[in-house]
Amino acid sequence: MSALLRFAAHTVGTLEVPDEVSLIYTISGCPLRCPGCHSAELRDASQGEPLDPETLAATLRRYRGLATCVCFLGGEWQPDGLVALLREARRHGFATCLYSGRNSVDDRIAAELDYLKLGPWVAALGGLDQPTTNQRFLDLRDGRDLTHRFRRPTDAAALRPAA
Ligand code: SF4
Repeated sequence: MSALLRFAAHTVGTLEVPDEVSLIYTISGCPLRCPGCHSAELRDASQGEPLDPETLAATLRRYRGLATCVCFLGGEWQPDGLVALLREARRHGFATCLYSGRNSVDDRIAAELDYLKLGPWVAALGGLDQPTTNQRFLDLRDGRDLTHRFRRPTDAAALRPAA
């Protein structure tokens, strides 16, 4: 299989990785088929723009000083291509993150990551912001589980007067 990944979109966001401004790439071709997938239209790995280290580097130069992290939504199904992109991001001084629908990733990929979200989408359990979620968000630099950072305040907490 080709190591060339394709992306359907890239955006900048602050919600995907705590305390980071992330340049977020949505990678085409997720093979997992979670029921109720929010991105079913992206299953075709041939759609979107090619993304190689040179293409990424050109974008990173534009976002230097604006973004602090590069976050890939998928791409672990092509480990060689993803590792090359993660190394390029680090080479430019960006932190790295992967959102994976799997429960573990290849060690070669994990070695290039600062942050990792694990777990498939299960509608009955909800995403990272739900206390019932099966998903986990990890800081691989120190092994901390940061999933709690995505929780919304409960209604009761939101109504409680500030001390
Ligand atoms: S991991 Fe995400 S993109 Fe892939 S099938 Fe599951 S919900 Fe869809």
